[in-house]
Amino acid sequence: MRVVFMGPPGAGKGTQAAVLASRLGIPHISTGDIFRANVAEGTELGKQAQQFMDAGEYVPDSVTNAMVRDRLTHDDCRPGFLLDGYPRTVEQVAELDAMLRSAGHALDVVVELTVDIDEVVARLVKRAQEQGRTDDTEDVLRRRLEVYGEQTAPLIDTYFQRGILVQVDGMGLIEEVTERLFAVVVVD
Ligand code: AMP
Repeated sequence: MRVVFMGPPGAGKGTQAAVLASRLGIPHISTGDIFRANVAEGTELGKQAQQFMDAGEYVPDSVTNAMVRDRLTHDDCRPGFLLDGYPRTVEQVAELDAMLRSAGHALDVVVELTVDIDEVVARLVKRAQEQGRTDDTEDVLRRRLEVYGEQTAPLIDTYFQRGILVQVDGMGLIEEVTERLFAVVVVD
C-alpha cells in the first residue's frame, strides 16, 4: 500500500502516521524526521536543511526530492510506504508522480488529518515548551502554519480531484483518532 499522510503542523500527524504505518506493515517515512536526524548528526544534508527549518520555511524542493527519491529505492519500500510530510509543494507532487510512474506504481490513498486551527496552535505551543524544538518558537510556528496554508493546503484539492483523498477528523484523544483512521484506511 502506498499512502501519503497530510495535515498542518501540530495535527498529531507524526504520531498517527507511525501507528498507521506499523498497522499496515509498511515503513513510516517522515521527511521532517529524516531532516532532524541529519541536523543532529551534522551531515551535509542537515547543514543544507537547518536554516530553512529554523525559519519555519520549507527546505528547497531540489534537496527534499533527491532525499525522498533515494529513500524510496530502499528494499523496505517494496511492499509500499507511508509518506509523512511529503509532498508539500506542487513541484513535490509532480516529482512523486514521476517516481511512482517510473516504478509502475500509484498512490492508493492520501489521508488528510483535519483539525481546528486554534487547537493546533495550542498543541504546538505546548509541544515547543515540552521538547524545546528550535523550529517551534511562536513566530516560527506562525510562519510554519502560514507556509502550510499557502503551499501545502492547495495540494489537498489535487488529490481530491484524483479521487484518492480521505479526510479524517484529527480532533480528540489519540486513540479515538487512530480508530477513525483504521476504520477508513485499513482493509483486512
Ligand atoms: P515536520 O516534522 O514534518 O513538520 O517537518 C519539519 C520541517 O522539516 C519543516 O518545517 C520543513 O522545514 C522541513 N520539511 C519536512 N518535510 C518537508 C518537505 N516535504 N518539503 C520541504 N521541507 C520539509
